[in-house]
Amino acid sequence: MADSRVTEVRVRAERRALLNPPSFSTRTVPARIFVVVEVHRADGTVGEGFTPCNAEGSRVVVAAVDELLRDVVVGEDSWDVERLWAAMYQKVLLHGRVGSVMRALSAIDIALWDANARSVGLPLWKLLGGHAQTVPAYASGGYYFEGKDASGLADEMESYVQAGFRAVKMKVGRGDLRSEEARIAAVRERVGPDVLVMLDANNAWADVVTAQRMMAMFEKYDPYWIEEPFSPDDKRSHAALAARTSVPVATGEIEAGRWAHLELLGQGSAQILQTDA
Ligand SMILES: [Mg+2]
Repeated sequence: MADSRVTEVRVRAERRALLNPPSFSTRTVPARIFVVVEVHRADGTVGEGFTPCNAEGSRVVVAAVDELLRDVVVGEDSWDVERLWAAMYQKVLLHGRVGSVMRALSAIDIALWDANARSVGLPLWKLLGGHAQTVPAYASGGYYFEGKDASGLADEMESYVQAGFRAVKMKVGRGDLRSEEARIAAVRERVGPDVLVMLDANNAWADVVTAQRMMAMFEKYDPYWIEEPFSPDDKRSHAALAARTSVPVATGEIEAGRWAHLELLGQGSAQILQTDA
């Protein structure tokens, strides 16, 4: 059997400036920044994991690997993934649980899984017991750009449908009620009734009343879900909105850990979880 001891954990940040920076409801994104972790094994296998850091601050994630997490993993058997996850989690309880340190932990976890899959010549989805050769996908876009109007947005969404997607996602929540409605109306009219249209608010709204008014206006365009309407920690408002709109509430992409996701479901804060590995 191949020697599966971890001999080294390397970490680096990669930054790619975006030539045409897009905007969400609440921020503009000048660059995409990822922290990349490599797990090296004694048999020469290298696994890779990564985590996005969509703000300056990737050095915090890198430091978490350097100062807190590497020592937990080096010298251990890469197949002990669950034990190593628990050991890392326990070590960083005061620093981690959510945010940069948890992201660092996750990148190492992914790199361990990747190394193990590579060492036996299998794609990870197969090692984990997956069986489907294809999965449904949606096209995620619909960002705000200077000078991009509702018809430009509809052009973009139509291009995804022409590329074969049966579901498309657009941003909402940057503008006022009327301008947002005009964007959604233009998209629905262009893609027709059978394409799923998802809405992503990226934590745009601060109160249930505002969100409820928006959703009451948007419902007639049959959105498939409303994503991250509020701050991720405001689970009560997610639950309140879910009770007041017929559109399913989706969230979870910047939530961390199985316990927080259980809470989301238990409180009725989300009907659709968008957990990010
Ligand atoms: Mg999102």
